[in-house]
Amino acid sequence: MKNERRYLDHAATTPLDPEVFKIMKPYFTEKFGNPSSIHETGHGAKVAIKKAREQVAKVLHCRPNEILFTSGGTESDNLALKGVAEANNWKGHIITSVIEHHAIYNTARYLKERGLDITFVKVDEKGIINPDDILSAIKDDTILVSIMCANNEIGTIEPISEIGKEVKKQGIVMHTDAVQAGGVLSLNVDKLHIDMMSLSAHKFYGPKGIGILYVRNGTEFVPQQIGGAQEFKKRASTENVPGIIGLSDALFRSDDKRKKESDRLIGLRDFTIQKIQQEIKGAILTGHKTERLPNNISFCFPGLEGEALVMRLSERGFDTSSGSACASGNFDASHVLLACGLDAKVALGSLRVAIGKSTTKEDLELFINVLKEEVKKLAKIAGIVDIAYR
Ligand code: PLP
Repeated sequence: MKNERRYLDHAATTPLDPEVFKIMKPYFTEKFGNPSSIHETGHGAKVAIKKAREQVAKVLHCRPNEILFTSGGTESDNLALKGVAEANNWKGHIITSVIEHHAIYNTARYLKERGLDITFVKVDEKGIINPDDILSAIKDDTILVSIMCANNEIGTIEPISEIGKEVKKQGIVMHTDAVQAGGVLSLNVDKLHIDMMSLSAHKFYGPKGIGILYVRNGTEFVPQQIGGAQEFKKRASTENVPGIIGLSDALFRSDDKRKKESDRLIGLRDFTIQKIQQEIKGAILTGHKTERLPNNISFCFPGLEGEALVMRLSERGFDTSSGSACASGNFDASHVLLACGLDAKVALGSLRVAIGKSTTKEDLELFINVLKEEVKKLAKIAGIVDIAYR
């Protein structure tokens, strides 16, 4: 039996793969050159970035000059939305959804304050967007549709390819936040029918602080970071060379093992969901049963506080997370769960378990037993006499 902590929060971040770190290391030390320098040391870094960009382009099935390296998912999302908005003189209509990550959701709200017209399309109770709702929201001045590939809290996978196909037929730019899909789902930009896509390396066993914005050639957008000529004059700043090397290697490795690892995770995910449903009758599965990320297990425990449960599980050696947050004594239910129609009192009891490469069936069996015990204890404290928690 393993004595170490069991990390079940891979949707928040993943550990850097030691093999990836090995490949990154020389770029911090002896291969430290600035790719813009014309001498030999700089040239070495430039060549390494070129190779990394080509490797990423292979995974995304796109051209290398369509890959922009950024500082992560948040910057990529900001760049996509603000870049397209500025290309349209900060005017026009943008369609997004009510369940986007804050990197999109709050950027869309910011653009609304600046006078753009924003539609937040609803989801059904499983968190799925109906492509017809996107189509009927399109107006004459719609400039962008931005819908996430997969949700970070409930793991729901959205019908991006179907949406993208229709949106592109109408000549509108289609962006997807694929941060949770990176390394897990296929990222073929043509099959997804998208023009822009955000990715972040720390979600697929790469380093933190490095991401990608894919921008299809011909897509009108205005760079948001002004300075030097790096990244085809679309994202100024000296390149994060070790980060770029790490990102491309991590993406290649995870894509290479994607099918096999997905099947393994789906087996563990479905085993855990079924067991929790059997063992804790009051637990409510959130998100879709099958259209969900292979690594996502998310439940609500009505009447309990998700954060308290996370803390208790942490004390018992399991790292998980909750969509609800306690800010200055007030509990904020997740906007994603509320958008799925859950009552705030139910949504406050949310728990997300995100499994990963290191997770075994034994880990999950132990976890389910501990979860059962802690749910019972919290229910007792909350004065819930419901048979489901007895
Ligand atoms: N988009 C989604 C769906 C995410 O899950 C996250 C991070 O959790 C982000 C964007 C932001 O990515 P980053 O942490 O790289 O800024």
